[in-house]
Amino acid sequence: MQSWMVDIRRGHRALHMHQPLRALRHFERALLGAPTSRLPRDVPATLFYYIAVSLRKAGMRNRAVGSWVESARLSKRGHARRKLARVTNEYGMARQATGERDDEQAFYGVQLSRYIRSKKSHKLGTRAEIDMIVELVEEYWNRISSSGIMNDLDREQRLALFRDTVVVFPFLSVPEALKTDDVAIDFCHGTRVGPDDRCVCGSGLPYRTCHGRTPGIDEILTGKF
Ligand SMILES: [Zn+2]
Repeated sequence: MQSWMVDIRRGHRALHMHQPLRALRHFERALLGAPTSRLPRDVPATLFYYIAVSLRKAGMRNRAVGSWVESARLSKRGHARRKLARVTNEYGMARQATGERDDEQAFYGVQLSRYIRSKKSHKLGTRAEIDMIVELVEEYWNRISSSGIMNDLDREQRLALFRDTVVVFPFLSVPEALKTDDVAIDFCHGTRVGPDDRCVCGSGLPYRTCHGRTPGIDEILTGKF
């Protein structure tokens, strides 16, 4: 038996034994080792699916969403699409216990990804830097959530508010950092793509769960977005 097949078997066994990080290692190794160009696309799609299952069990819920998106892009019918509809919220992020937590998570995702894009290295550095940035974002979030400003806003308006809220990070040239917010345009129709429209890439997924996704902190911290 080829080694990538052995990895798949070991991955499933690790999942059964509630060892999601070990399962993750095996499934990722299988994905790298499988001759995906000579296999039906169902094989990598299935591997991305189980990578997502492992990530979710390990608590990395937005990285799991990202992996289910990959799976759904490869396979138009598989389970990943149904899974995505179940586990994502209206921001296209992993659903949290309450609507307020959904909002909070989206705010952090927007602000932290902007901070990272504005850095030359595109990486978060030390633990101290992460703590400082998270603390700063938290201050802004507390002000926004206690102001009542979001009460009458729908999800799209809230996301616009989060993007318009400029957290002033230390040591940054803010104007440069602000230029990078992309707006998706459907060039065939010349219209702006809404969050519930099909994504422009042709995956058949809603834009908000595909290329319009807001990354979660677990993706940002590991650089997997
Ligand atoms: Zn897309």
